[in-house]
Amino acid sequence: MDISGKRTIDDLDVRGKRVLVRCDFNVPLLNGRITDDRRIRESLKTIRHLQENGAKVIACSHLGRPEEPSAELSLSSICKHIEQLLGSPVKMAVDSIGASVKKMSDDLQNGEIMLLENLRFHKEETQNDPGFAKELASLAELFVNDAFGAAHRAHSSTVGVCKFLPSAIGYLMLKELTILSNAINSPKRPLVSILGGAKVSDKIGVIDSLLDKVDVLILGGGMAYTFAGAQGFSVGRSICEKDKFEVALDIIKKAKQKGVTLLLPTDCIAAASFHNEADFKLVPLSQIPDEYMGMDIGSETVKVFSAAIKQAAGGTVIWNGPLGVCEFKNFEKGTKSLAKTLSETNLVSIIGGGDVAVPIGQLGIDEKLTHISTGGGASLRLLSGADMPGVAAVANKA
Ligand code: AMP
Repeated sequence: MDISGKRTIDDLDVRGKRVLVRCDFNVPLLNGRITDDRRIRESLKTIRHLQENGAKVIACSHLGRPEEPSAELSLSSICKHIEQLLGSPVKMAVDSIGASVKKMSDDLQNGEIMLLENLRFHKEETQNDPGFAKELASLAELFVNDAFGAAHRAHSSTVGVCKFLPSAIGYLMLKELTILSNAINSPKRPLVSILGGAKVSDKIGVIDSLLDKVDVLILGGGMAYTFAGAQGFSVGRSICEKDKFEVALDIIKKAKQKGVTLLLPTDCIAAASFHNEADFKLVPLSQIPDEYMGMDIGSETVKVFSAAIKQAAGGTVIWNGPLGVCEFKNFEKGTKSLAKTLSETNLVSIIGGGDVAVPIGQLGIDEKLTHISTGGGASLRLLSGADMPGVAAVANKA
């Protein structure tokens, strides 16, 4: 997507102004603890810039998918974490709108920061309700959208507020859009894309678009079993979308027609049930026992996929979605092995965020990868060539 005409944070004079900044603090939590704070760390550049330039910073974000307000999905623990990382106080608001929040924002001094409560505690947020957007906007004089991870959604805090405030994109948004757009539109070749994740149905759009751009397409994760089923293999109890068999066969055909090398798993780690402690074994993809389910790519597949990555040295690899059920330690090995290979190969490596960013983050190889995106769904949307509502809504440069 072309962002060259969009107003950026550097175009704003923020001194003494109340600036509403939409961040993506939607971090993974386990028993109330943040398990991966990448999104928060990556947001700090924009927040620091606003703070150092004398803005009154009103940060906001969603967290999870709350049906109603709850202590578990309050942003107060995030607030403490931001304070620690920034080394300066952040005032926690009791809500995202309302009289006391307005007073808190009115009382902010230059360089002070406050954080609104989880935006999704109001169902109007995801409905892009203009009334809610107007109330949010009433807290501030300027709006900065830095939430790349939410840029594919048209919500009150990503799209709606732009109608009521002068808007601009923040540093993280700018970085993500620039790196991902360059990687897909003018890549160093060969261009390899690795796609994993649960379902083919979620990725059809992006696969279609990638077939016009990539030299090699590697498919793994749950969606590989739909391809296996479509080719007549029995896949046991693996995740498999029978109604997408035609689509899978069509993708195989299109890849051939377009000269794209399509790599699918040839073996897998199959488990007796869907949990970490389940009994498991390595089997060829064509021989998954009836009562077993494919949970990770097998060792032969790891070899073939790794070889394809090594062969792409000097080129670009764009990866979205895990190759196995990475939430379980026993089934994350395929994903981690490939990530290691990627980190050891000299190429431009772009990791779409979401579930795959977590196991890769645990490997401590961030420095050896070109870019780990903070947005899973957003980077998929960008790769599929579709518009990003949260970016489209931001004002153009004067
Ligand atoms: P997505 O949001 O589509 O990228 O999917 C991510 C999810 O795919 C993760 O929660 C993984 O557990 C899941 N996944 C990856 N491989 C498999 C598999 N073989 N069977 C079931 N789910 C899988």
